[in-house]
Amino acid sequence: MATYDYDLVTIGAGSGGVRASRLAASRHGARVAIVENSRVGGTCVMRGCVPKKLLVYGAHFAEDFEDAAGYGWTLEGARHDWGALIDHKQQELTRLEGVYHRLLRDAGVTLLEGRGRVVDPHTVEVDGRRVTAERILIAVGGWPTLPDIPGIEHAITSNEALDLPTRPERIVIVGGGFIAVEFAGIFNALGSRVTEVIRAGQILRGFDEDLRASLASEMEKKGIRIRRECQVRSIEKRADGTLSLLSDCGEEMEADAVMYATGRAPNTANLGLEEIGVTLGKGGAVVVDEWNRSSVDSIYAIGDVTDRVNLTPVAIREGMAFVATVFGNTPTPVDYGAVPSAVFSQPPVGTVGLTEAEARKQEAVDVYVSRFRPMRFTLSGRDEKTMMKLIVSRETDRVLGAHMVGVDAPEIIQGIGIAMKAGATKAHFDATIGIHPTAAEEFVTMRDPLPDPSFENTE
Ligand code: NDP
Repeated sequence: MATYDYDLVTIGAGSGGVRASRLAASRHGARVAIVENSRVGGTCVMRGCVPKKLLVYGAHFAEDFEDAAGYGWTLEGARHDWGALIDHKQQELTRLEGVYHRLLRDAGVTLLEGRGRVVDPHTVEVDGRRVTAERILIAVGGWPTLPDIPGIEHAITSNEALDLPTRPERIVIVGGGFIAVEFAGIFNALGSRVTEVIRAGQILRGFDEDLRASLASEMEKKGIRIRRECQVRSIEKRADGTLSLLSDCGEEMEADAVMYATGRAPNTANLGLEEIGVTLGKGGAVVVDEWNRSSVDSIYAIGDVTDRVNLTPVAIREGMAFVATVFGNTPTPVDYGAVPSAVFSQPPVGTVGLTEAEARKQEAVDVYVSRFRPMRFTLSGRDEKTMMKLIVSRETDRVLGAHMVGVDAPEIIQGIGIAMKAGATKAHFDATIGIHPTAAEEFVTMRDPLPDPSFENTE
């Protein structure tokens, strides 16, 4: 029997890779090494969810201070120091990086710093040094992609936006996905003039239509300009540093920064995978089966590099399932049904289950929608509406989808997700007593479905 340096070598110390490595080592006594060429913590902790959310918190004070006036507060001279926010955020990331290092150390996982490359089904080369392993786990995540247009070198991505030394007075954000709308909210709240350029007719493709429209309308009310059905053709940098954008929608735009959030691609370039027979799919994603195993028996992959459901908690769950299957002798598939998710836009979005369009394709449904001004904005006078929506199977009464745009949506939808996982019906929602006064109680007090569109215009 072959002997290897390790039972498992993981490439990529992000959320998924770290969780899988720690569990394999601490719970199953596996000899594990993890390879990382950047900061331990990966995209979510170092360049994504965590720093982004800290900036969202920071930005939200702008509105909180305005709202405070309606409650009798006088706040004079409040001003924001972008540099201080970035510094403090950086300190927090350094603290978290330390926590991750400690977690790996305590679990007995060896950290190999450097760029990993697979040279055969059981060997990884890390900056010239070779280590062998019975199994290799690819957890290298993804990286922003930019279209190839003239002047694209002047554009930044979310990676750089999180570390800008100064806040741009004018920023153009290209893209209408999670990242674009989140950053539009951050910069707008902190005082930048934000233009979001989207090639589609609406933001957040794939989300429920009412949710997309509600969020876009609230963002526009807050002053974010959304240029729809528009593509940037070129970016030019003038002598004074101003960026000038030519678009195909008949408008020349000027900005101090241009940020692209046009999607991310799996990080598989130069990883050596194809050379050893690992099948890569669209965009270079590692193709895996339900056990996270690639086309090469000893090589597994989890997280964004597989381009399934690109969310940190999903990558973590895939890592746990991989360990249970491979080291715990308990074959464990991941259940991708009704994964709740959030967009930390302003106002935020929470969503779980099917959109109305997806549900209608599948079966007859009743749809419940509620729109209201949250109580906290009554005294402040803020014109921000919350939208809540439930999609219910007419046949089984099961709640198939729940969507919300508004204050605390991510916090509220997490609990709705549990109910849906437990198979809750609309009757269960109706039987639940609301907590008053909250916005969340609206989810248990919606009584009248919208008129069925298939019966409209039939008179
Ligand atoms: P998304 O795939 O969500 O969105 C990409 C956007 O860019 C779409 O609006 C798309 O338009 C547009 N686009 C793509 N190519 C071009 C192009 N050539 N020119 C103009 N527009 C283009 O990507 P993101 O970068 O926003 O996010 C990446 C991933 O990160 C997501 O899959 C998400 O899972 C994850 N993420 C999750 C977050 C969360 O959970 N809160 C937060 C941030 C990221 P169109 O609609 O027309 O296709």
